[in-house]
Amino acid sequence: MKIAMLARNHNLYSHKRLQEAAEERGHQLDMINTLQCYINIASRRPSIFYRGEKLPEYDAVIPRIGASITFYGLAVLRQFEMMGVFPLNESVAIGRSRDKLRSLQVLSREGVGLPVTTFAHDPKQTDEVIAQAGGAPLVIKLLEGTQGIGVVLADTDRSAKSVVEAFRGANVNILVQEFIKEAGGSDIRVLVVGGKVMAAMKRTGAEGDFRSNLHRGGSAMQIKISPEERSTAIRSAKAMGLNVCGVDLLRSNHGPVVMEVNSSPGLEGIEKATNIDIAGKIIELIEKKAKPGKTKTIGKG
Ligand code: ADP
Ligand code: MG
Repeated sequence: MKIAMLARNHNLYSHKRLQEAAEERGHQLDMINTLQCYINIASRRPSIFYRGEKLPEYDAVIPRIGASITFYGLAVLRQFEMMGVFPLNESVAIGRSRDKLRSLQVLSREGVGLPVTTFAHDPKQTDEVIAQAGGAPLVIKLLEGTQGIGVVLADTDRSAKSVVEAFRGANVNILVQEFIKEAGGSDIRVLVVGGKVMAAMKRTGAEGDFRSNLHRGGSAMQIKISPEERSTAIRSAKAMGLNVCGVDLLRSNHGPVVMEVNSSPGLEGIEKATNIDIAGKIIELIEKKAKPGKTKTIGKG
């Protein structure tokens, strides 16, 4: 097969591993710098140009679109879809997953366990939003944050109120969430490929940090998950319409709750913690699913 991978950095572990896994299985994988693509919409046959030349036909495209270029990256991915190329994850599903509020709305409809979360616009509603989320301690987060940046823990209602007001003043959208204290600064990343759980790891934050992101100095180890956690992860992937994703769970007193679903999960942490060849599983999924011209939107919302 001929596979295109939309990625900016050739040297990233995840990208190198996907390339290796594709080549080991006899496929050609071209890494394409998303931002250097341009799109010709006016022509009757949709096409993509790259560094001055029209891109050849591909059987599949692996989108690895960084959060900072979501808008442009999704436009390029949509163009591949218009051309009938099989996307590992669809543009619509990635778009859903990039907005934490939209994700939680989709998951809540499916009955997936979630932390109590509130969202409002009017600053007059701040006290009510804090009360509805159960009062301090509370987590306040940017709707489109990543890597733990933009996630704040407020210990008292007063500090929660001032954090909410500060974010509002900066004109960014936030949500207010119950703090799952019993998670003890750890979360669980479950890697789902093609509707199956391939691996799971427990991430623990650096000393003194409630955020367990590996980018924030957290550490990871393989973990065995419960049947309930497994089904929560699988249902979340399905509801979001993602073929490949990292589902982030917290172990709360009221069962597993999903914090977010990541549509471009990093492979380094999970492969090193578990010794499982996730890149290989992803390429095998493409082998199974890539039937050019069959793009359709899975999942809803
Ligand atoms: P990001 O997209 O920046 O990774 P997350 O919502 O995943 O944002 O939050 C980052 C980390 O903060 C999580 O991995 C988790 O360790 C911690 N965290 C987030 N929300 C909560 C919460 N409601 N209760 C306890 N810990 C949380
Ligand atoms: Mg996260």
